[in-house]
Amino acid sequence: MQDLYEILGVARDASDDEIKRSYRRKARELHPDAGGDEGAFKELTTAYEVLKNPEARANYDRYGDPRGPQGASDPFAGAGFGDLSDLIDAFFGGGFGGGGGFGAGGRARPRGGRDAIVDVQLTLDEAFAGAEREIELEMARDCDACGGSGAKPGTQPTRCATCDGQGAVQQVTRSVFGQMLTSSVCPACQGVGTTIEDPCASCAGEGRRQVTETVTVDIPAGVEHGNRLRLSGRGEAGRQGARAGDLYVRVHVRPHDVFEREGNDLRCRVRIPMTQAALGVELPIPTIDGETTLEVPAGTQPGTVLTVRRAGMPKLNGGGARGDLRVELDVEIPKRLEPDELALLERLAEQRGEDEPTPVHNGKGLFSRLREAFGA
Ligand SMILES: [Zn+2]
Ligand SMILES: [Zn+2]
Repeated sequence: MQDLYEILGVARDASDDEIKRSYRRKARELHPDAGGDEGAFKELTTAYEVLKNPEARANYDRYGDPRGPQGASDPFAGAGFGDLSDLIDAFFGGGFGGGGGFGAGGRARPRGGRDAIVDVQLTLDEAFAGAEREIELEMARDCDACGGSGAKPGTQPTRCATCDGQGAVQQVTRSVFGQMLTSSVCPACQGVGTTIEDPCASCAGEGRRQVTETVTVDIPAGVEHGNRLRLSGRGEAGRQGARAGDLYVRVHVRPHDVFEREGNDLRCRVRIPMTQAALGVELPIPTIDGETTLEVPAGTQPGTVLTVRRAGMPKLNGGGARGDLRVELDVEIPKRLEPDELALLERLAEQRGEDEPTPVHNGKGLFSRLREAFGA
């Protein structure tokens, strides 16, 4: 996929105004009514729709996808873009590996470097606080000796005579459907648009070399399992100075012993004795970043879920906003009783009139329900 800024022909730090002006100028050139290429016009429009929207642009800059770190897999991220998301799907749906090469419109471009993907493993605590990771990569990088051009130091690549620097050649073919104009990669320059008389000795004219390097990745607080972060231009170097691919960092978060994540909320289970469930208790419980006191009211039933506000995960780019912690309460019934405990419980049962067997269903005595059923 081609870079959106490149499609619009603006710098990465272009102002909204510059983006708009460049879009209008290019749209006039590429509009199908004016004889332009429809695929290229669609690309241009999609690029503009993304970059004029501050949220989508920020997502694109950071994750390589205007819908945010999860892209199409996040059901909420597309909200607010309306029918644009169809266009984006068509555009971003291709996944990885297709960087550079030929666009939808069939126009040849210099061979860009491929996108690369690496995986990082995080604990939930690291996902909470954010983390820094040093990743060792084996990656094609611009050749130092020739600066990426592929030409022997001191010489320059020359424009390809076969395609006149276009990287593609047009051919007319005849078929039962009539004449078709097709465009294919220039066989002389393999789409680069230039040829090299005297290749650089270090890289054999490729303009890039395989190196091992360490990349430091800043992982923001709040990332989730399956998120991917984009490091623009840190993928494979392009051939002979063509655009580099992007590096995607895919985040994996290991399960935590205590907390389970649900969106930005965390969930855990806490067991309390039946006496505390009946009487109520102020219960100290752990949180992901410390501890808090949970107010368990008297008469709490098994399975009750209590919420501790703002004790969940930080929202990604959420300016300090946090999800909640949901605590599900298990009530423990004693399995064995000492003789004096047994005596106490039996007294309680007697006191409450629970020493006689009276099955209860839906809040009513089972026997009274039976009587109602038989009209007695
Ligand atoms: Zn070189
Ligand atoms: Zn050529």
